[in-house]
Amino acid sequence: MTELCFVTHNPHKVREIRQMLGKTFRVLSLDDIGYFEEIPENQQTLEGNSFEKAKTIFGKFQIPSFADDTGLEVPAINNEPGIYSARYAGPQKNSDDNIDLLLRKLIDIKDRKARFRTVITLIDRSGPRQFEGIVHGKITRVREGSEGFGYDPVFIPEGYQKTFAQLMLEEKNRISHRGIAFRKLVRYLQEKSISDQ
Ligand code: IMP
Repeated sequence: MTELCFVTHNPHKVREIRQMLGKTFRVLSLDDIGYFEEIPENQQTLEGNSFEKAKTIFGKFQIPSFADDTGLEVPAINNEPGIYSARYAGPQKNSDDNIDLLLRKLIDIKDRKARFRTVITLIDRSGPRQFEGIVHGKITRVREGSEGFGYDPVFIPEGYQKTFAQLMLEEKNRISHRGIAFRKLVRYLQEKSISDQ
């Protein structure tokens, strides 16, 4: 069985990817490998941040490692909040404050197009490889719904009349940035494991 480290402290994300990968792979979280420190995200792009996180763990433990990084990008305000999505309104990383700031910045703006973008970097002995997932949509004027997290109450995906916070989790995962990027990673790992046999 192939062992992989998912460079995250978030148990929800670990459960999600374990479910998708089935029994061929054993996914270890940072806690499973005994790494309890925060990994700093100090790069200027999602690509850079996910690469650095995967590299840190692959370098330390020599186990194939992957890391994700996600940002909400709103073209009308220069693709903000982007890499600052978690800490947009300050280091307290509070979703309510972040949404308030975003809605304030967009108050006079008609073009409300937005996208969530996830980049996953996988690093193993053959080097790094990146997988991207994007979901397009728009930002509402007020919060709607109570599911999910982060900017979900103000993001309506294209083709829908509801925000992410009004969708069931299964439905969100089917169309979301992270779902798309995860499925690309899973397909790659499964094809690679077949060709390695
Ligand atoms: P991370 O890279 O997955 O930790 O995401 C960074 C930040 O982007 C989070 O703290 C959230 O504010 C936001 N974010 C990421 N994914 C989602 C999502 O699926 N819905 C809403 N907000 C999200």
